[in-house]
Amino acid sequence: MRGGTVAVVGGSIAGCAFASAAARAGADEVLVLERTRGRLADRGVGLCIHDERAAELTATGALPAGIPAHPLTRRTWVVRDDAAGPAGRTFWEQPFPFHSYHWGLLWRGLREATPDSVAYRQGAAVSEVADGTDRTDGADGANGADGAQGAAEVRLADGGVERYDLVVGADGYRSVVREALSPKSRPQYAGYVCWRGNFDAARLPEAGAGHWSPDAVTTVCFPGGSCVVYRIPGPEGLRVNWVLYATPPQAGRLPYDDPTSFPPGRVTEELRAHLGELLERRFPPHWARVLRLTEPQDTIVQPLYDLDAERIAAGRLLLAGDAATVVRPHNTSGAAKALQDASAFESAWRAAGSWAELTSAYQAARGPAGRELVALARRLGRAQVEQTPAWASLDHRAAQEWWTGQLAGAADIGGQAMTGP
Ligand SMILES: Cc1cc2nc3c(=O)[nH]c(=O)nc-3n(C[C@H](O)[C@H](O)[C@H](O)COP(=O)(O)OP(=O)(O)OC[C@H]3O[C@@H](n4cnc5c(N)ncnc54)[C@H](O)[C@@H]3O)c2cc1C
Repeated sequence: MRGGTVAVVGGSIAGCAFASAAARAGADEVLVLERTRGRLADRGVGLCIHDERAAELTATGALPAGIPAHPLTRRTWVVRDDAAGPAGRTFWEQPFPFHSYHWGLLWRGLREATPDSVAYRQGAAVSEVADGTDRTDGADGANGADGAQGAAEVRLADGGVERYDLVVGADGYRSVVREALSPKSRPQYAGYVCWRGNFDAARLPEAGAGHWSPDAVTTVCFPGGSCVVYRIPGPEGLRVNWVLYATPPQAGRLPYDDPTSFPPGRVTEELRAHLGELLERRFPPHWARVLRLTEPQDTIVQPLYDLDAERIAAGRLLLAGDAATVVRPHNTSGAAKALQDASAFESAWRAAGSWAELTSAYQAARGPAGRELVALARRLGRAQVEQTPAWASLDHRAAQEWWTGQLAGAADIGGQAMTGP
């Protein structure tokens, strides 16, 4: 199928990747509508992509070459053990074939790789979308350019109304496109949050951690949670990124039912104090010192959610990335999943003879994949936060069994290899 106009709502990771995919597949016109006015690149922190997923995504063109990435090879699991020393005791080590990325640098690489034909409009907040195919279902032209009749409608916050042949919702976990496509699907609070932070890796020696191997990921385990620490590339050299999962204090009183987060500088005193207490009472002192190198303005708190939208494509609407599937970060799959969605979209477009064929092929390829990711992340969250084992009693073999139980047949975390279309 060739031709047609495409609006992509949201210009983050999924948005840039889908805009490029639509342009490569042959759309006449691709427009990204991003509500943010400032530089998105300044807002993110660290994420990882499994090496096998990265190789597949580079081959399909979804992951452009040349984006800074830091190699990680192994993950060690440690628990506080004062008899073993201030760094605690390592009870398990597993392979970790991932590269870490700086969110802003990944976004910039994807943004720069979008073809010049793609228009990227900032400060364009979409308030509502509507699928028009109920009026013109039969008019699914093979060249895709079947005019305004069958188009989806985009309503902008400034009052403007625009029509496109296809609207892609790459607008994240509070998607307005999902409201139109799958209105009953809402993110569900997972029951715990993550504190995230990052700091300049050159400061590690101040905490006596200058020798910490650059390719290592350390998971600090404590009753009721765990914390993952690793290096990421940064605009000015390596940074240390960490994500600590635990139940927040007095959860009922904080606004976790509403999907939102506490951005830098807005972390409440109660959440800050709780983090301090966890570091003091639960962490090996060495790793507590490492995390304390983080400046307050570089700490954020995010409530975690699960969402697996019932429908991710129908009529002239289609969901991408976090708009379709919100997965707890234990999976380390958010960015890879968004890029895989874009690859599947491009393949489905190339094979389709009509919009209906495109949306049904995309739904068939990515619906089950999203569902599996959400289920895996729930198992990982249960085992690593909600119902943590007696960490100190685990040896290598018991830890391996514990991990295999969480995978429940999945090959690894980080997302699975793509199948069809
Ligand atoms: C600023 C930012 C920083 C992030 N940092 C990290 C990180 O450090 N580590 C990590 O693992 N993951 C991070 N993520 C999440 C990560 O990007 C996603 O899990 C994954 O890459 C898939 O994202 P996405 O593009 O589907 O959705 P998102 O990244 O959530 O992007 C959605 C985009 O849509 C825009 N948008 C939303 N609603 C509207 C609307 N109504 N109209 C127009 N535009 C709209 C948003 O401004 C945003 O740019 C971050 C996301 C954002 C937006």
